[in-house]
This record gives sequence, C-alpha cells and structure tokens, in this order.
Amino acid sequence: MPFFGLRLAEGQNASFERILFGCAKSTWKDATNGLMRRKMPGDGDQFLRRSVGKAIHKYQMIQNGDRIAVGVSGGKDSLSLLHFLSIRRQWVPIRYDLVAIHIDLGFDGTGERLAPWFRQEGILYHIEETRIGPIAHSEINRENPCFLCARLRRKRLFELAFTMGCTKIALAHHRDDIVETLLINMFYSGEIGTMVPHQRLFNGKLSIIRPLALTDEDAIRGYARTKAFRVIESGCPTVKDAKRTQIKAILAELARKNRRIKGNIFRSMRNIRKDYLP
Ligand code: SF4
Repeated sequence: MPFFGLRLAEGQNASFERILFGCAKSTWKDATNGLMRRKMPGDGDQFLRRSVGKAIHKYQMIQNGDRIAVGVSGGKDSLSLLHFLSIRRQWVPIRYDLVAIHIDLGFDGTGERLAPWFRQEGILYHIEETRIGPIAHSEINRENPCFLCARLRRKRLFELAFTMGCTKIALAHHRDDIVETLLINMFYSGEIGTMVPHQRLFNGKLSIIRPLALTDEDAIRGYARTKAFRVIESGCPTVKDAKRTQIKAILAELARKNRRIKGNIFRSMRNIRKDYLP
C-alpha cells in the first residue's frame, strides 16, 4: 500500500510497508541504505565529489540521522544531485535517508517519465500530480506565471516534506543559479540578495540545503552526460522567456570573452566594500 504515493524499486514493496508503518526510524534508515549500495565513483566524479563535499562541510548541511527530501524536477541538476547524494552515503561516516519528491506541474506528464528512473536507481520517491503549471498560466495570472508557479510548488514541497518527517529539503541550485538570481534581483527588484546554501526555517524544524552551491553548471552538465541521465523537459511554455534564461544568455556572452566573470560575481558577494556603497 503506498504512503503519499511513496514507492520503492520493484520487488521492495513488502519491506517498504514494513519500513513505513511498522519499524523504528533506525530500521527504516538501515533498510533504505541497504538498497542503495553501489560502486565508488571513478576519477571522473572527483570534481563533483570535492565541490559538493566542500559545500556540505562548509555550510554544515547534513547531520547524522537526517531525512532529506530531494526536489527533483527531472533536469540534469536535480538528477545529478539525487544520484550523487545517494552514492555519497557509501563513503561518508554519517547516515542519512533520502526521498525524492517530484512535483508534476501538469504540463507534460513528467512524473510518468521520471518514475522508471527512480525505480532503476532504487530510490524512495513520491510523485505529486498537480495543475500548478496551467493555473500559473491562466488568464488572470498571465503577467507573471513564474512567481505563482514557484510559490505553489515550494508550498507543496514544504507540506510533503513535513508530512514525510523530513528534516531537510535539498534543492539542486548550483553556483550559476546563485549568480543569476543575484543579478535578477538587482535588475528587476532593485535589491541585492540571492539563494543561500543553507537556510533554516520554522525555528530550525526544516532546512533548505543546496549542496551544489559551489559547483559550476558546466561540471554538472558533464557529470549528467557521463552518467547518461535521461533529462526530462518540463514542457513549460514560459521557460524560454523567463528572466533567468535572458540573464543566462547575457552571462554566457560575457563569459566567452572572460571565463572568470561568473566566478568573480560569486566571490564579490563575500567581498562587499561597504565604504564604497551609497
Ligand atoms: S519557467 Fe515555467 S516551470 Fe519555471 S517557474 Fe516559470 S512557469 Fe514555472
């Protein structure tokens, strides 16, 4: 019997019911970790291993006993994050559980296409079917679909994570996303701010963590290609016009002449010269 649609890989259903309904948390932890055993990553993974490990350590993202909901859209970033957090448990001395959550926005049956991958990876998962996409693009909200879409998606993700007893929500925002968000906020909202790597919410009951915060998008792209992940497109009609897409194009153009630009913008957030600000 599924619990909030949570599922495991084929053949694991019996133990799954026992895990969710009959066992103490430690048993659940042991059972799920047992399903994830895989080979250690090869040399090609070393870059990601270093940058993600550094972010997790620096921002104290994961503690022993954490149950982490990983938001998976189906793009290269979230597939890479989930896969990496899963295999990472083989070489770190702490124990944590993972559950993948996919919010299907109702555009193009993304949940149906992702489910086989979750099963193949042996990862506990939940797919939430919604109409968030069409609602965000409805007549009354056509001006700013992204705002409503992001808000509704985030709200549902929080509710699901709470219901599943998760202590953390891991999102796949990487260093390029953080830089782009900074510029979006400056350009369109007149403020300086972006996404933080570790954000404690609700008096510390739940945290948002971004283990890819120190990792370049190019490195993730390479990782996803090496692993041959089958990326799922959202089918959203707004993606191409979104502010982020425009900022990404500007940064890519600048980076063609100077590869350091994105890194410099990222570093500038830790190097603020207040005396030289109005
Ligand atoms: S681009 Fe589409 S999927 Fe992304 S936030 Fe905007 S409306 Fe939602």
